[in-house]
Amino acid sequence: MRRLSRVIGIALAFTAVLAAALAANMLRTRSRQLTVDPAPVAAIDAKSVAERLAGAIRLRTVSYETPSADSRAALLELHRYLAAAFPHVHAALALETVHDYSLLYRWEGTDAKAQPVMLMAHQDVVPVAPGTESAWHAEPFGGEIRDGYVWGRGAWDDKGNLLAILEAVERLTAAGFRPARTIYLAFGHDEENGGDDGAAAIATLLRARGVHLGYVLDEGMLITEGMVPGLDLPAALIGVAEKGSATLRLTATATPGHSSMPGSRTAIGALATALSRLERAPMHASIRGTAAEMFDTLAPEMHGANRFFLTNRWLFGRIIEHGLVASPATAALMRTTTAETIIQGGNKQNVLPGSADAWVNFRLLPGDGVEDVVAHVRRVIADPDIAIVVEPGATPASPVSATRGEGYRAIEHTLRALEPNVVVAPSLLLGATDSRHMQGLADGVYRFSPVRATSIDLARFHGTDERISISNYVELIAFYERLIRDSGPAGR
Ligand SMILES: [Zn+2]
Repeated sequence: MRRLSRVIGIALAFTAVLAAALAANMLRTRSRQLTVDPAPVAAIDAKSVAERLAGAIRLRTVSYETPSADSRAALLELHRYLAAAFPHVHAALALETVHDYSLLYRWEGTDAKAQPVMLMAHQDVVPVAPGTESAWHAEPFGGEIRDGYVWGRGAWDDKGNLLAILEAVERLTAAGFRPARTIYLAFGHDEENGGDDGAAAIATLLRARGVHLGYVLDEGMLITEGMVPGLDLPAALIGVAEKGSATLRLTATATPGHSSMPGSRTAIGALATALSRLERAPMHASIRGTAAEMFDTLAPEMHGANRFFLTNRWLFGRIIEHGLVASPATAALMRTTTAETIIQGGNKQNVLPGSADAWVNFRLLPGDGVEDVVAHVRRVIADPDIAIVVEPGATPASPVSATRGEGYRAIEHTLRALEPNVVVAPSLLLGATDSRHMQGLADGVYRFSPVRATSIDLARFHGTDERISISNYVELIAFYERLIRDSGPAGR
């Protein structure tokens, strides 16, 4: 009895010490946010900038699966529109057209030795999904301004950024400003189809000219509001990397024949078994790399249990991972995802098919190569009779750009100068952007614009009722203007 109470006593003492250590850890974990002097508020005429954006939305620069003559005509019309809307930009910057439709502006800096930087956006938009037109509360290509918003396809993705960059440069050129470092503006025309004709061609051109950029900033991640549990402040998530994509085709074969005398193995059965095994054994998920840096940056800004657990990741790592993997959005940050997307096999009710195929799309985490995915699939399905082929067009994950790099610092500095409340953290972009074509041309590639979104808004992206609030659009312009003003003569 005495011995038992001593054990309990030691256990209690240990628990108390541990609890104190964890609490101390939580309180000691300091904010990683920069302290920055507030920037003066730029006087931007909200009405006229909104109208110029609305005008660009009316031009149907749609990227369909197969190129359309109407869309090409709309791109040329957009070029004329931009030239008329931004006269100072077109007087002060050199403009060249790449593959007829992509635009590359060059704003010569005063310091020839400074590394140039690049701001990107794309001119094309996705179509409105057939059958969803009537669900819109505005005409998708009407450029309507209503209830404090500019409505329409492209308001977010990506004419908002395109026009905001030009508004910022127009304001600066009109005021006689010249940047210390050369600034490129690269506006592709086929981002929604992969950017091979536009951004990739611009990259080839610059590479041939020996251009090396300090950093590239393109669309990508956003300022999220109320989307990070435990965080009340808005979070500006800067995409420091983007995931890759690879689709594997699995083919099961069997002896074809009459369905009245089936063997023990059918192509469909073998394929189904393989797919079921794959779905039950996803690739390893953990908080590492960019996800780890993201949570460690956000944690000190949180409150309550989220802060307590995340600042003590050394102890609660597995529990946290278990919780995060349950949600598809956070699981995607932690692993290479598996998605079974197409299945085909058989064409007659009484015939055993000779083969069955399935296509499985993997989104690759930085660090996982296509060969790692193939090895994983081979091991999990454990069926040497199923052929595995990597479909053409697989792209690896991008390299991870440094959060200590000058590009990240410049974006962070600008954001904090404009809004001291915003929490800036690195994150991983799940989709793909034109900026991946600039990899290797720049020291850092960042995917971010200060578009604000709540979780409800995410469905508007490529979806119904795409819109941007005029006040947020004004913030975009102020952001690009401040970023350019502060871009300084760094990177010698
Ligand atoms: Zn886009």
